Amino acid sequence: MMKAITFQDNKKIQYTDIPEPSIIDQGDVIVKTTSTSICGSDLHVYHGREKGIDTGTVMGHEFTGKVVETGSTVKSFKTGDHVVSPFTINCGACYFCKVGLTARCEKSQLFGWVAKGKGLQGAQAEYVRVPMADSTLVKIPDHIQTKYALLAGDILSTGYFCAEMAEVKKEHSYVILGCGPVGLLAILGAFELGANKVYAIDSAGYRLDVAKKLGAIPVRLENNTPEMIAELTHGIGFDSVLEAVGSPEAQMLAYEIVRPGGIIATVGVHTSSNFSFSPVDAYNKNITFKIGRCSARHYMEILMPKIEKWTNELNRVITHELPLNKGVDAYHIFDQKLDNCIKIILLP
Ligand code: NAD
Ligand code: ZN
Ligand code: ZN
Repeated sequence: MMKAITFQDNKKIQYTDIPEPSIIDQGDVIVKTTSTSICGSDLHVYHGREKGIDTGTVMGHEFTGKVVETGSTVKSFKTGDHVVSPFTINCGACYFCKVGLTARCEKSQLFGWVAKGKGLQGAQAEYVRVPMADSTLVKIPDHIQTKYALLAGDILSTGYFCAEMAEVKKEHSYVILGCGPVGLLAILGAFELGANKVYAIDSAGYRLDVAKKLGAIPVRLENNTPEMIAELTHGIGFDSVLEAVGSPEAQMLAYEIVRPGGIIATVGVHTSSNFSFSPVDAYNKNITFKIGRCSARHYMEILMPKIEKWTNELNRVITHELPLNKGVDAYHIFDQKLDNCIKIILLP
């Protein structure tokens, strides 16, 4: 048996004993986790906004671990290797994997997503089964600390992807909506891609403080934000809005503050079935709207070599390191933004 955090019901998760995973397909490996963490996407499940997940599903999709068992066809990994996983598995051979859109791999599955008995168990556990391991996992170089490598598997890649979608140019002005872990790392991504001027909006003052330390101009979310932004951008609006929230309100705000002809780059996960703005609204502003899951496996190749230079910035984002057995409390802390929490690493 092993310990794991499992989904029970709306806002009900449990730290519990469940059977350890075993090899099912010969391309699988089993890893013993060395770190795992809670993502804003886990909060959508936690709040019951994502429908259909089976009771008892292991939560989470961000993890590093040591390989403890390999299937007979696994070529690239052996017992003892220290690895990090992207939050989805990838075949490495289909059209989408080959063009770098690994998020849309034909065989893609998301960790922590089991519905009607089908899918992949999550990572907030002592052991995780990783299918298609050869094309999914990435070895962690010895000089990179586990907790930084973990971020590459999701939120560091997602922040960078968001900035890439925003088509960052030096002379333009950008705004990040949402200064959670993803939005903060989108600030990092925007600067890395050459931005000069980056604003950051949130209602949580302590998160805005971190945005400022990362070089952004903080703007506190108020009812009058569109008017305030009009003033900040001389009535023109932002060239691109990087949305890292995932709510109808944030989507509407993005529409209101993007300039005519600008880009809305959305990584926030949306669970609503309608847009907050209409096709007519989009037409009337000539906007480009981009959205989607990050192809983390693709971006990990680009970002792993850059991680070392970002140690200070990543340390500002990682605010908590707690044992896995405090996972239930950790969800509450992260969800309620207690104790100036930004990113929580859980250590098994
Ligand atoms: P988080 O919940 O910690 O952060 C969201 C932040 O947005 C909070 O600080 C909150 O105060 C702020 N906020 C709420 N409403 C706002 C508004 N109207 N305007 C501005 N800010 C507002 O979560 P996170 O871990 O940073 O994740 C952010 C989003 O990114 C989530 O929706 C998550 O599911 C998504 N995500 C997407 C991908 C992907 O592949 N596209 C990957 C990882 C996470
Ligand atoms: Zn995530
Ligand atoms: Zn594929």
